[in-house]
Amino acid sequence: MNKEKIVLFEKKQECCGCTACAAVCPAQAVTMQPDEEGFLYPVINEEKCLHCRACIGVCPFKD
Ligand code: SF4
Ligand code: SF4
Repeated sequence: MNKEKIVLFEKKQECCGCTACAAVCPAQAVTMQPDEEGFLYPVINEEKCLHCRACIGVCPFKD
């Protein structure tokens, strides 16, 4: 399996904070964490991540 680091978004405009990625992750590796303004964005715990890419697949901003 490709062990390349999973990037859910490069810019905040590419994430609406829908939490779908956190919900779908089979390893509970994605947690929603507040930025400096209190908006929740997903953060991947690299220690837990299985690199299955399910989070990328479910994200409405990816095609
Ligand atoms: S690649 Fe898979 S294991 Fe890693 S954060 Fe995404 S859904 Fe979770
Ligand atoms: S699925 Fe995509 S848009 Fe939704 S919270 Fe995750 S990265 Fe953001």
